Amino acid sequence: MTTHDPSLQPSPHLRPNDLSATLRLLATTDLHANLLPYDYYADKGDQPYGLARTATLIRAARAEAANVMLFDNGDALQGAPLSDITAQADSGWSGAHPMITAMNHLGYDAAGLGNHEFNFGLDWLMRSLAAARFLITCGNVHSGPDVPGPPLLSPYLLLARQITDRQGGCHPLTVGVLGLVPTQITVWDTHHLAGQLTAHDMVQTARRLVPQMRREAADLVIVLAHTGIDAGPHLPGMENAALPLAAVPGVDAIIAGHSHQVFPEVGNLRQAAVDPEAGTPSGIPAVMAGFRGSHLGVLDLGLVRRGGKWRVQSHRAEARPVVPVRNQAPVPADPTLGAALKTAHDATLALIARRVGHSAAPLHTYLAMAPCSTVVRVVTRTQRAALSRAVAGTAHEGLPILSASAPFQDRRTWRAVAFHRHSRRPAQPSPCRRSLRFSQHALRAAPQRCRTARLAGAGSGLLSPDHSRRH
Ligand code: MG
Ligand code: MN
Repeated sequence: MTTHDPSLQPSPHLRPNDLSATLRLLATTDLHANLLPYDYYADKGDQPYGLARTATLIRAARAEAANVMLFDNGDALQGAPLSDITAQADSGWSGAHPMITAMNHLGYDAAGLGNHEFNFGLDWLMRSLAAARFLITCGNVHSGPDVPGPPLLSPYLLLARQITDRQGGCHPLTVGVLGLVPTQITVWDTHHLAGQLTAHDMVQTARRLVPQMRREAADLVIVLAHTGIDAGPHLPGMENAALPLAAVPGVDAIIAGHSHQVFPEVGNLRQAAVDPEAGTPSGIPAVMAGFRGSHLGVLDLGLVRRGGKWRVQSHRAEARPVVPVRNQAPVPADPTLGAALKTAHDATLALIARRVGHSAAPLHTYLAMAPCSTVVRVVTRTQRAALSRAVAGTAHEGLPILSASAPFQDRRTWRAVAFHRHSRRPAQPSPCRRSLRFSQHALRAAPQRCRTARLAGAGSGLLSPDHSRRH
């Protein structure tokens, strides 16, 4: 267990031959492809989050410290139109994934995967990662249906660095980095992944790999844990397992994520074995940097080398917001990132500006959660028309088609409903291009896939939907 030492000054208990240094870990998580401060759905450039803003915090945090490493904790590649161009066959985009371009530009040391990295299939994932000039780790996912198959990516990394001590001396330091992702990926993306890979319990994986990392060379072990902080003991396949992960012997720090929460934060995640002010689940330093680039995780580890071994003696954990004062202006975006992403940004604008139809009737989603939403009807009729075309000339032609869709319980939808209750303003007729852009945004924030099942009679094998929350 380390002490929470806000000053991180050398301990009065240092012996004459001890060396002391501070290693600063910077972390982003759950960026969901939010890069430039641009809202592609509303056609406005004022989003108060995104990596371009976080980059300004990264620059400042780097300038404050001598030994700094930058990590991303997954759910980076999916979640905004700027990344959808890489997965949409007719987008015309053939360049690198914009998030990888941005991470290369900012000089990330390493990254882990999140569950959403698997949303567009393994080919897309591996193609996207191929452009990375930083290392990527995933310790608990193996290729193929067999146990144990070959690892999908490096199970862990041993990053050799030089660290400057408080007297200015330089020393080698090997930082072990272990990436972990919830095993639920094989359920959530089963249509992409069935038979392609196997995911193992995160905590059991850490218990197996951390001692191995220590034996090989790691002076420290950092876990890029794409998992949140749920209360309770470890259960097999636990989705939010940062608490039992922190208790695995040999783990020095946890970069958490997935649940889109902020940690440490006063009063947040107050539960047994978690100190939200000191930033310690199970007594181990941890940060969780919100989502969409809302925060930068800053974890300072006060290190001491005694008898040739480095260990963490104290720490300071902080989640720095890109909106420093609530309801005030966010920090400015890093202009160099805008320049690096200009071609991808322009391609995204061109893609979403494509006119796909026109509606003379006003379309809105204010009451989409209630029956008879015009927008949901447009979606179901579009699905039916697309399927009719797809089965024309096949044995299935002429079968009756049932088309179902539903508004997603997204916070933005609820806000729209709330707005409607307090407003008498009628929705304005609008070109279908904008309406569909709006409906995609308000009904579901991510691209959707239309899937079809052939029904042969009662009980004909429809899969029940997965109702669990996914971050
Ligand atoms: Mg996630
Ligand atoms: Mn996420």
